[in-house]
Amino acid sequence: MIAGHWEVVVVGGRIAGASTAWALAPYAERVLVLDASQPTAFWPQQSTWDRSGNLAWAELDLLETVLACGAPRTYGDTQRVGEDVAERVYPREDAYSFRMSVPREVLDPALLAAARTRGNVTVVRPARVRDLTIDAGRVRAATVRHGGVDIEVTCDLLVLADGRLSRNAERVGAGAYRVVESPWFALLAYYENLPLPTDRSYFSLQDRSVLISTPCGDKQWCVALDLHQSLIDETGRHPAHTFERMVRDDPHLGPAVAAGRRSTTIGGAGRMRMLRRPMSGPGWCLVGDAGYHLDPVTAQGTRAALVTARILRDRVAAAGRVAHADLTGLTDERDAALDADWTYTEQIVRG
Ligand SMILES: Cc1cc2nc3c(=O)[nH]c(=O)nc-3n(C[C@H](O)[C@H](O)[C@H](O)COP(=O)(O)OP(=O)(O)OC[C@H]3O[C@@H](n4cnc5c(N)ncnc54)[C@H](O)[C@@H]3O)c2cc1C
Repeated sequence: MIAGHWEVVVVGGRIAGASTAWALAPYAERVLVLDASQPTAFWPQQSTWDRSGNLAWAELDLLETVLACGAPRTYGDTQRVGEDVAERVYPREDAYSFRMSVPREVLDPALLAAARTRGNVTVVRPARVRDLTIDAGRVRAATVRHGGVDIEVTCDLLVLADGRLSRNAERVGAGAYRVVESPWFALLAYYENLPLPTDRSYFSLQDRSVLISTPCGDKQWCVALDLHQSLIDETGRHPAHTFERMVRDDPHLGPAVAAGRRSTTIGGAGRMRMLRRPMSGPGWCLVGDAGYHLDPVTAQGTRAALVTARILRDRVAAAGRVAHADLTGLTDERDAALDADWTYTEQIVRG
């Protein structure tokens, strides 16, 4: 069913991949999205964004899709710094001036469903791209493991949206040219029925940790913790244990989680690297974390993924068709567009 030629093959079907398939579909005859993960897998990568994220969704015509996911919009937060507590209200610049968080188990399928409504987007999963064919310096084909067999697909454009650990980026020769090692461990879990307000988040900034709770659905909250590696090393305990203890001991969240229920495992990632890889080359383009990974500590990854998808879409739209688009110079365009996010995140990561 998938063997043969596709104008666009997108590897990875989450924020970056699904949004790119949606955005490029009007300029291609057929788009194939391949994702290695099971549709029902818990994906412990949060997606919280602020006004700038809302604007990025709107630029891709996906804001309505995202709002339909049902997460509450928040207009302020309670911030605890040390023992001091302050109530903050976000500046009301326009209709986009809110913060929101959508669980990936809701967001990612909604984005893929939107892409499918284009009528020319096919999604296949689990399907892992395990090799690429490069001929005369240009990517021509991908070998896809699906249903226990290897299938070859050819394409005019291969979009790699396969995350920060992309092996395919290395295969096309897109090595990282800028790397910052991060000492932060990012953890999260979802909770139900917490006696907390649904119109505001909570931040607790303590020594080498930031604990955040954000309403993200009907009676649902995402609780996230950024933990400095030195704290993990000092306790010698598994990071999930430290997460549970810090949530329990927090004066605001502790009583709330005792009254509610944790609905997922505690997941996340550590020993991450911020990285920049080239955005495009002959027959290929990198979107999302695969090409530009910001540490989660500043919660700008979603916006960065959308900005890269939009930059690619704009270049293709200017040419009228994927096959006619000249993708040179995208790296500089992307780096300029995201420079402020990189600088801010790097400052926090380096402490
Ligand atoms: C703990 C944590 C908390 C975070 N919190 C926030 C936050 O609050 N706000 C924010 O904006 N960002 C946050 N981020 C960052 C954000 O999650 C990422 O920026 C975002 O997920 C990037 O999306 P993506 O589509 O590029 O990649 P991913 O979400 O990583 O998706 C990559 C997809 O590619 C698939 N794939 C990989 N290899 C292959 C292959 N060979 N073949 C086929 N498919 C493949 C994977 O299965 C996966 O489905 C957080 C990250 C972490 C780890």
